[in-house]
Formats: sequence, C-alpha cells, structure tokens
Amino acid sequence: MTSTDTTADAFGLDARSYSEASPDHPVNEDFVLVGQNFAVVLDGASPVTGLDTGCIHDVPWLVRTLAGQLLVRLTTSDDSLGDILTDAIEGVNCAHASTCDLSNPNSPSSTVAMLRRRSQEIDYLVLADSPIAIQRNDGTVTAITDDRIDHLPDYSVAGISKLRNSPDGFWVASTRPEAGGMAVAGTLDLNDGGPVQQIRAAALLTDGAATLVERHGGEWADTMRLLEIGPRELIGHVRTVDESGTGKFRGKRHDDATAVLCMFPTNAYRAAKAD
Ligand SMILES: [Zn+2]
Repeated sequence: MTSTDTTADAFGLDARSYSEASPDHPVNEDFVLVGQNFAVVLDGASPVTGLDTGCIHDVPWLVRTLAGQLLVRLTTSDDSLGDILTDAIEGVNCAHASTCDLSNPNSPSSTVAMLRRRSQEIDYLVLADSPIAIQRNDGTVTAITDDRIDHLPDYSVAGISKLRNSPDGFWVASTRPEAGGMAVAGTLDLNDGGPVQQIRAAALLTDGAATLVERHGGEWADTMRLLEIGPRELIGHVRTVDESGTGKFRGKRHDDATAVLCMFPTNAYRAAKAD
C-alpha cells in the first residue's frame, strides 16, 4: 500500500451510544462497543432460574468476554463479520472450556448486532433479536432483523433448549462457533450504486430499546428521530411508553436497553483534495 491509498477506516463513523439496565435489574446484561469504524451491541439472555447451564459464569461474564473477543478482531482483522463472530465465539470457548460443559445447550448466550464502515460501504450482521435500522436520505428506514426466534414451534423451556443453535430453531452467540455463519449479514453501498451518498444513518438496538416498533407498532422513522435527539432520550421515552403501553409482548415489561446511532460523514474535505 502506498501512502496515498485510502484505508478502510479513513472515513469515520459518527456514533453515539447509551446502554442501561432495566429499572428492575441490578446489573446490565446488554453491552455496547463503539470503535473507530465499528459499533456492536450485545444482549445477554437471562437463563430460566434453576436451569442447569453447565457453566459457572453468569450472563454479564459472557457478554463482556464476547465483547472483548470481538474488539480484538474488529481492530486487527479485515475478515467478514460472520468470520469475526465465529472466531470470537471460539475465543470465548477457550476462556471457559476447562471449567464448564460447553456441550450444554443452556450455556449463557447473547444476541449480536454489528456494523462496520469500510470506506463507502457498511458491513452489517444481526444474530437473534437485536435489529439494525438503516435510514436513507429520503427518510425511508429499512430494518435488518433475524426473527427466527419469533417462529418457534415450541416455547417450553425444554423446547427452547432443543431449538437453540439448531438449524430448525434459532441461533445465538454461545458455545457454537458456527453461529457466526448463521447470522443475517451483508454489505451495503452508502451510495446505493450512484454518485451521491444515499444512506445517512444506521441504528443498532437491543430489543429493550426497540419496543416502540416491535411491541407498540410504531414506525422506525420515529425511533430514528428520537435517536437523533440522543440514544438516552430514546430509551427514556421507551421506558415511559413501556410502562403505560398495552401492546402485546412476550416476557418482561422492561428490559435492559441499548442503542447506538451511527451517522456516516461524507468527508467532503477528503473528496475535495482528491479532485
Ligand atoms: Zn463458563
């Protein structure tokens, strides 16, 4: 590479993030990472009380260890996000193979949403229910979701154990490295193939921060508008609506909540210099 070549992270990511525990949780089982050209949100799954997980560690250990493994790879590797996640899960496995039964399907697990900017492209990866919303300049918002967990034939504890990380069920980041290849992943051109940038922003959300759409039937555009005021303001609004809302949902009224808003500066100064 010569000194005038543009590296993948020469174009920045303007990211703001916020993560907080549910008002009724003592610890936050979500985790957020924001780097020079990437953002990640993780949502650890709380095990059913009393269930044997085969693991001496708790969910916060799993999400923090996975976050550390992802950080190392996102800062040193150009591999696809799926391969990075696969390698990171292998790294987590190494950290507890000697103390825990990694074949237990109830081992602690996490959702993953990852986004990485590479010059004029963005790579995305979504595993389980932490969506990424993509907003274009015309105001349209497209959600990238992995909704396999919403279409299971059996929601009993035993049924979910059987369906977790199986081809007929759903995939999460736990002890099976191949989950990295099962995620919803791809690459978007910020210009949609044209000369002018069309994608202006992306949001990564854990499900606790996405309830305005996923539970209360709201529009993604409204979530993006609140995010532009600030991720903390979005989550504050989510808490209020969740408290009074009557929308249908499975599970708890409140959840840990994490949101990252990524804007994609065009770096006009660099473009002008190149002319
Ligand atoms: Zn363990």
